[in-house]
Amino acid sequence: MKFLLFITTVLFLALIPAPQRTQSAADIVFKNGNVYTANDKAPKAQAVAVKDDKIVFAGTNAAAQKYVGPNTRVVDLKGSTVLPGFTDSHQHLSGVGQREMTLNLEGTTSLEDFLAKVKARVDQAKPGEWVTGRGWIETHWQPPVFPTRWDLDKVSPNNPVILGRADGHGSVANSAALKLANITKDTINPFGGEISKDKQSGEPNGMLLDSAQGMVRVKVPPASSDDAERAVVLGVKRDIELGWTQFQDAGGTYADVEIFKKLYAAGTIKLRIYKAVYGPGPTATRLLDEGPTTGAYGNRFTLRTIKVVSDGALGSRGAALNEPYSDAPDTSGFLTVKEEPLRVMLAEALRTGIQVETHAIGDRANRFVLDEYEAAFKAVPASERKIADPRWRIEHAQIVNPADIPRVAKLGVIPSMQPSHAIGDLFFAPSRLGIKRLQGAYAWESFIKSGVVVPGGSDAPVERGEPMIEFYAAVARKDPKGFSGEGWHPEEAVTRAQALKMFTIWPAYAAFEEKLRGTIEVGKLADFTILSADIMTIPAPEILKTRCVMTVINGEIVFEGS
Ligand SMILES: [Zn+2]
Repeated sequence: MKFLLFITTVLFLALIPAPQRTQSAADIVFKNGNVYTANDKAPKAQAVAVKDDKIVFAGTNAAAQKYVGPNTRVVDLKGSTVLPGFTDSHQHLSGVGQREMTLNLEGTTSLEDFLAKVKARVDQAKPGEWVTGRGWIETHWQPPVFPTRWDLDKVSPNNPVILGRADGHGSVANSAALKLANITKDTINPFGGEISKDKQSGEPNGMLLDSAQGMVRVKVPPASSDDAERAVVLGVKRDIELGWTQFQDAGGTYADVEIFKKLYAAGTIKLRIYKAVYGPGPTATRLLDEGPTTGAYGNRFTLRTIKVVSDGALGSRGAALNEPYSDAPDTSGFLTVKEEPLRVMLAEALRTGIQVETHAIGDRANRFVLDEYEAAFKAVPASERKIADPRWRIEHAQIVNPADIPRVAKLGVIPSMQPSHAIGDLFFAPSRLGIKRLQGAYAWESFIKSGVVVPGGSDAPVERGEPMIEFYAAVARKDPKGFSGEGWHPEEAVTRAQALKMFTIWPAYAAFEEKLRGTIEVGKLADFTILSADIMTIPAPEILKTRCVMTVINGEIVFEGS
């Protein structure tokens, strides 16, 4: 009898729900969302719950209810599309901010339009004051030729002027600026650059390519530290309004690092930054000596990468090609980095666990980088490295000889690519390269099929820096009007699911952060890009009309559109 009572009691107790076993409440629950998680095991959800900075639940609206406590904020998304926080894998944020602050020449339609904008700015300048700006591109001008110093002299005979081409690899300067820099017909080209000269007279025509831009730029008074800070704040504001939750800063110095740290410490900026500094040189040496900074300011700031620039750009014919340019048989472009200091630096980077990412546009530059990486991997085997799988990257990997594509996967190198370059360059790349070399150009799908991840980026301010333009370019591989020329390899466009990964989990992998962020999964940092339309299903042209309605970083709504 006693035994029976015992059993009954046990049974009875088992039926009482455990009193404190309900889920602890979330800080914020997003419900009624059209959630794409980028997690192949559970690709869709309706609701997401966040506690502190992490995702604690992703699933149905009904199941999310148990995370709603008395102090939980519930956000009804009314069907908006939720994606893992978008990352721009290659951006120059200070340049984006400066583009807003100086003369912004984006969208300039003709030489006349260009000169009118410059004149308006010169008219406001004080005597002798520099006029600087960037963003022009001659592709759609009639004829599509570079502006000259003599064009600029007509609107600015006295004030020195230097204006960067959108790609950052060329600038046009007027006569006053060339004079201040002592550039004459006798000045020889600096290493890694070219002073473009008039074919008849031999006089410099004002166009300066790659490192030659520096000969004039050093004469421009540096931006004050206030201006440099303002550029960062403006760039961050623009990024989060567009839906970026992290950008990977493709180069710079410790001066940027100091500004970022100051702004984080003050709570002024919330955007995540994965930072690189330029090398080889003293800045890279400092990073190799001092070691990386990872996950500072609530996993917002990491500095662990050296950015190398191995050639110029295709538009300005500075990209290093194996064979001459099809439309300029006297040149094959040029490499912009010396082998010896690079080799020493690469070996040291492997020993100390520093990531390297190298700008390579032309097929010669891409082969050069693969050769150098391969030699470094041989010289410093995994057992002698601080990080066995160093995840070194090639930035752009733009024109790659098809024979070199499998080498990228074999070496474990990550091609970090910018879809918008393909839809901007399609107007001049065929003439620069000829039809045959377009095989292996902007070859996203070939890379993915070869077994590598392809993090996507914008390269802003080289391009606009808008996630919807990049996503559209990746899946459409056509210009915004739907145009793509002959031989433009439509099979290299990616699927929507691949494009989603290009801006979420793949950049996270390229930053050693795939366990931390990049998908909507329990335990990951709560970063979301919330959009007005379902870019995974709508017709491609509508992607360009899609707006960011909310940006969430570390579980905090940092931007909310109207
Ligand atoms: Zn860049």
